[in-house]
Amino acid sequence: MRFCIIPVTAYQQNCSLLICEQSHKAAIVDPGGDIDMILKIINRENVLPESILITHGHLDHIGAAAELAALLSIPVIGPHQDDQFWIDAIPEQCRTFRFPACDSFTPSRWLSQGDIVKVGEEILDVFHCPGHTPGHVVFVHRNTKLAIVGDVLFKGSIGRTDLPKGDFNTLINSIKNNLWPLGKEFSFIPGHGPMSTFGEEMRSNPFVGNASLID
Ligand SMILES: [Zn+2]
Ligand SMILES: [Zn+2]
Repeated sequence: MRFCIIPVTAYQQNCSLLICEQSHKAAIVDPGGDIDMILKIINRENVLPESILITHGHLDHIGAAAELAALLSIPVIGPHQDDQFWIDAIPEQCRTFRFPACDSFTPSRWLSQGDIVKVGEEILDVFHCPGHTPGHVVFVHRNTKLAIVGDVLFKGSIGRTDLPKGDFNTLINSIKNNLWPLGKEFSFIPGHGPMSTFGEEMRSNPFVGNASLID
């Protein structure tokens, strides 16, 4: 599996295109907006989009999901059902964050801890990682040791927990119980900003770092 990162919206949210190299099928993760840019990359890579995957229900991650799903006739998969209230609130989110109006949607499939999602021949494991939002999920590709973590973890930081149904301790537990056991070699695509590795964050992240974990 290979991937492209496409920063979208004023929030420079990392929409990513996950590509199965055998089948040339692809999943679009967190299409927050800028549909034209996403379509341009899909064309450039000459891949066949088969699904839209969602980490959580914040507007900069889901703003273009309904329109793109309709345009490409593909399903929206995820997040966990506990984020339904965020998705239902898309019209309010558009007003609050001054986005152009976009449509709400109901995912074809909600996700839970331990679920599996396929991208062509490739397999992603699903981890439920609440704290930033209650229904946040993380997608993990074990073969290439890559995680797509949305707003759970960033290089040098973690997701904010002051929004409705966010919780700091829950987020810390999600990271320590779900992400760290995958191992320090894992690299991750965060929802915003540059990539990093779990090992680097275990070592130096001021919120979840602990040098003793990597010895
Ligand atoms: Zn978010
Ligand atoms: Zn975000």
